[in-house]
Order: sequence, then C-alpha cells, then structure tokens
Amino acid sequence: MTHPVLVITGGSRGIGAATALLAAERGYAVVVNYVGNVAAAESVCARIHAAGGQAVAVRGDVANPEDVEHIFRAADRMGTLAGLINNAGVVDVAQRVDEMSFERLTRMFAINITGSFLCAAAAIKRMSTRHGGKGGVIVNLSSAGAKLGSPGQYVDYASAKGAIETFTVGLALEVAGEGIRVNGVRPGIIETDIHASGGEPDRVARIAPTLPLKRAGTAEEVARAIMWLVSDESSYTTGETISVSGGRAIAP
Ligand code: NAP
Repeated sequence: MTHPVLVITGGSRGIGAATALLAAERGYAVVVNYVGNVAAAESVCARIHAAGGQAVAVRGDVANPEDVEHIFRAADRMGTLAGLINNAGVVDVAQRVDEMSFERLTRMFAINITGSFLCAAAAIKRMSTRHGGKGGVIVNLSSAGAKLGSPGQYVDYASAKGAIETFTVGLALEVAGEGIRVNGVRPGIIETDIHASGGEPDRVARIAPTLPLKRAGTAEEVARAIMWLVSDESSYTTGETISVSGGRAIAP
C-alpha cells in the first residue's frame, strides 16, 4: 500500500519532529528534513519505523535551491506528494535592529522566508492540478512574534514571520483553484531547542508564568494544529494562520 507523502522541513527536532511522529501515526510517509543534526533526524525515523511507519531522513538547507530539489526528489521516490510543512526556522541572539549585521539579516531572511518560498514552489510543481498533480496542502510556520514584533530581541525574525503570514494569504489565493490549500500556524512560547539556539536557554522558564495560560506550549500541541490543517477536517479552510500560543499572540 502506498502512503501519501509529507515533506516536513526541520523535521529532526522540536515542532517538526513532533509533527513527523504524528503524521506517521496518521498514515503519512514522511520526509524528515534536517540540515546538520543527522542523529536527531535518524532517531525520529527510527521511532516511526519501530511503529510500522515510513520515514526517510534527508539532509538539505531549505535556503539552497539544489538542496530543496534533493529533498523533493527523495519525496518522489516515496510516492505521491500530499503536503509540505514549511517548518524549518531559525532565530538569532537578542539584538537591536541598529546592531544587526548584514550577514545576520541575510541568513535570517534566506532560511525563514526564501526557504519557505523554494519549498512551496517545489511542492506546487508536484501537487497542483495545473501541473497534472492531485492537489495537496501546505502549512507554514509563523510565530506570535509576527504580531508582537519582538522589540529588543529579534525584530528580524518577527518580520520574517510577518512575511510568512502574507505569503500564506497570497499563495493560498494563487493556488486555491488548483486543489491546494495553504494555511499557517502561529506558535507562542513552545518548549524546544530554538530558545537555546538564540542564546537564551532559560527563555521558556522566564516567560511561561507571564503567559495567559500560565505555561509554555509543547511541540505536540503545535503538531496537532498542523495536522488538523493537513487533514480533511479543515477542508474549507485556506489562507488562514491560526494561533497556538496560549493567548500570547492575542493578549493586549
Ligand atoms: P528547533 O527546535 O530549533 O528546530 C529547528 C529545526 O529546523 C531543526 O530540525 C533544524 O535541523 C531545522 N533547520 C534549521 N535550519 C535549517 C535549514 N537551513 N534547512 C533545513 N532545516 C533547518 O525549532 P522549533 O522551535 O521546533 O521551531 C520550528 C518552527 O516553529 C520554526 O519555524 C520556528 O520559527 C517556529 N516557532 C517556534 C516557536 C517556539 O517557541 N519553539 C515559536 C514560534 C514559532 P537540525 O536538527 O539539523 O539542526
């Protein structure tokens, strides 16, 4: 039996890993993309295989067009592409805008914005009825930062996620007549490695008590929202970005 294929960028850790595990549980064959942490990606795949599912770890930088082709060719070998989760994302250390280097900004926008565009283009070429495909879904990862702006911390990251929300609206309307739904998820403070990679391992513990729901979210809670948008349960929803932020993205 062939399983519908889902490409999850940054599927090796955090929200992407939780989504890969849930997707496999729901019958998807999963491409677990990673950029450096092969052990983490292999471990996600091993857990999926142990449960009887299908998964393959594929290295590739989403900001590199050749790597993106490599990721999607791996998906083609698994079966018919049914969806893309544009999840890979990075933050950087806390800085004011007037301290940010050109190199930092270039990396931030290349991975968080250009990477999502490149992966979406590769997915559309396979899924759009305009290209002979059978339709599909795309889910983009935004952030509460898109609403809050993240002043004094990472306005560059927040702005990249703002771009992702506009991308979600525009792309959804562009491919709505081609069998593809495009939506987004806007996480708040979620317990993953991303905070340590921004130089703030204590960020979750510091902010969690101040959140409306008085706790951080888990990667699994975000994964469930992502998989709702992938599923037919959301069949009439497109162009939306839904908050999974414990109230953070809407609190005054
Ligand atoms: P994470 O734990 O730091 O994991 C990041 C993942 O992205 C890893 O799998 C990493 O691969 C991969 N990655 C990084 N750069 C990549 C690149 N250039 N090409 C391909 N893969 C790359 O992150 P997370 O917290 O799960 O975040 C996932 C998404 O949710 C991101 O878009 C993030 O901005 C968004 N988000 C997270 C939070 C939060 O509080 N955690 C809040 C709002 C939004 P390796 O394992 O190989 O390094």
